[in-house]
Amino acid sequence: MSRDHQIYVTKPGLPPLEDFVPFLRDIWDRRVLTNGGPYHQQLEVALRDYLGVDHIALFCNGTIALVTALQVLRVTGEVITTPYSFVATAHSLLWNGIKPVFADVDPRTLNLDPTKIEAAITPQTTAIMPVHCYGHPCDLDAIQRIADTYNLRVIYDAAHAFGVQLHDGSVLRHGDLSVLSFHATKVFNTFEGGAIVCPDARTKARIDHLKNFGHAGELTVVAPGINGKMSEFNAALGLLQLKHVDRAIARRSEIDGLYRALLGGVKGIHCLPDAGEKRANYAYFPILVKPDYPLSRDELNQRLKDSGINPRRYFFPLISEFPMYRGLPSAHRDNLPVATAAAQQVLCLPIYPDLSTAEVEEISRIIATP
Ligand SMILES: *Cc1c(COP(=O)(O)O)cnc(C)c1O
Repeated sequence: MSRDHQIYVTKPGLPPLEDFVPFLRDIWDRRVLTNGGPYHQQLEVALRDYLGVDHIALFCNGTIALVTALQVLRVTGEVITTPYSFVATAHSLLWNGIKPVFADVDPRTLNLDPTKIEAAITPQTTAIMPVHCYGHPCDLDAIQRIADTYNLRVIYDAAHAFGVQLHDGSVLRHGDLSVLSFHATKVFNTFEGGAIVCPDARTKARIDHLKNFGHAGELTVVAPGINGKMSEFNAALGLLQLKHVDRAIARRSEIDGLYRALLGGVKGIHCLPDAGEKRANYAYFPILVKPDYPLSRDELNQRLKDSGINPRRYFFPLISEFPMYRGLPSAHRDNLPVATAAAQQVLCLPIYPDLSTAEVEEISRIIATP
């Protein structure tokens, strides 16, 4: 084999280093390093326009943005969420003293199943925190109907959903708030970073107070806020990355199409369908290894690793299996049969702009010839 390097599930995209130097020089000259400096302000405007949303507040990472989003809406008591996600989703609830209540996912999309949400509502429920898993939109209308009926808030963990557009606009324009992550592994990265998307200026002002220790002016502190600010370094990176993101998503789309063509007919391998977005972001390429495939998911994972290819079992284990969650009544496997089965079968294949067509063919060949 000619390949002499390991292939990982993702490889962060970076702009040419020379292009970043002028930004660094500006930061050095200005000596404005953080606290809503000029690059921070520029990136908020640029992302608001790019994403097609009304207001956006930048954060140092997606997890602090999730924690803050719950505080913005004064969410308490119980929140219904999915076990099939990255652990930060549920951790943001614990950081606010909120009890997570897990509901099962839809076998088609692996997003929170609206028909399971209603049964999980109690008098303590105040909000729903769904995840647009793999960047595929949740059943937005059904979730909003439930929220309206029971007077619940909806906070979308949209960490996977950067740039996803539906036929009526950005997926981020749904629910009360949406939270993005710009972590190195995501479609758009600022090394570390995140944001809250909100519909109105008043909420944006409250978010801006909460991410800056609760400061509302030099001498006034209105809430026990946190330090969630994005630095000028990360904001400048974001401005530069934004110039390349359309090309990055276009290449991801080609890879997605290649995998679908090469794996579509393989018995026992199920590719998750795209969700009919007007514009998807191809953040992940999950396959489900079904019982009629000759190898188990873990055997296939090992087979690929033996060839220097490192897929990831996202999401395994389920959040509900971790020690701080597994004692909850809703964490019981009997309550989560679809998520439990998916966690046993899923494998996310490498997908990133620098992945070559030959590499996609090699990965697909190994999977197609077990
Ligand atoms: C990445 C991710 C987060 C956390 O974002 P960070 O920026 O890494 O803090 C939260 N939820 C989901 C679903 C994620 O994938």
